[in-house]
Amino acid sequence: MAVSFSGSVKAELCRFFPQKRCCAVAECFGILLFCNSFGAGGARIITESREFAQRLPKLFRRAFGLTFDQTPEGGGGKLVFQLTDPEKIALVMTQFGFSPRDTLALHVNLPVVEEDCCKASFLRGAFLAGGSVTDPAKGYHLELTTTHQSVCRETYALMEEVLGFYPKTARRGGGQILYLKQSERIADCLTYLGAPVAAMGIMEARLEKELNNKVNRRCNCDDANITKVVEAAQEQCEAIRLLRAQGKLDSLPDKLRCAALAREANPEASLTELAEMMEPPITKSAMSHRLRRLTELAEEGKEASI
Ligand SMILES: [Zn+2]
Repeated sequence: MAVSFSGSVKAELCRFFPQKRCCAVAECFGILLFCNSFGAGGARIITESREFAQRLPKLFRRAFGLTFDQTPEGGGGKLVFQLTDPEKIALVMTQFGFSPRDTLALHVNLPVVEEDCCKASFLRGAFLAGGSVTDPAKGYHLELTTTHQSVCRETYALMEEVLGFYPKTARRGGGQILYLKQSERIADCLTYLGAPVAAMGIMEARLEKELNNKVNRRCNCDDANITKVVEAAQEQCEAIRLLRAQGKLDSLPDKLRCAALAREANPEASLTELAEMMEPPITKSAMSHRLRRLTELAEEGKEASI
């Protein structure tokens, strides 16, 4: 199965395991507040990332010294982890500063994310459990989804504090969404979370897109110029044919006659090339002036004969 861009970001985020216990607790906090469900009744974390699934049991052991009550049984697809034992849930809630019986309004308990190292860990956990990012070849979008309203509000402020910009917010179903739409901000966010390789991927995709746009604009422009040059040359040849038919070509001043003959013999030559064929050679603008004069004379002849 092909790994999505989100999947590769999550794999990158799982390369390093938190050194300090405070960070392990903060990451678990982020995971639980952004996972599928978390409350007094227990926690349910569902993921498709193998790397995250491998990390989860180690992380919860490091943070709280506890094991999950349900872990996925091998296989692929969605991997489900559950905490259902009331004692374990009470332990986790207490660590986060909540009373086990009073968990109606879960929020980001600030002492848990006081240290800078823990802020990054918290947001990494939030992304691993409730985040996704679109493949930059398809578009720029990173989002975090939580079912808790105050968590959304507090994470919004936390992101501004550590990243220097606010995410946008939206609702989808029962979820609160924090999202980013600008490639640079998504790259900054991924770097901050600990996925600099993915962040580079975003910036490279953006550069490539800009370069392609530039090349396309350039080609369109060149095509337009070539068309213009070809049309002008055709018009000049037509004028020269008319002048000859009117018997005026031989009586033209030398300069104009030479220009006409040169154009007639070289219908595809550029103005610069024609200018160089003159004896002595003249400037491109002088050549352009002579050819314009020829078209005017032909037009005058046409009008006179009507
Ligand atoms: Zn820490």
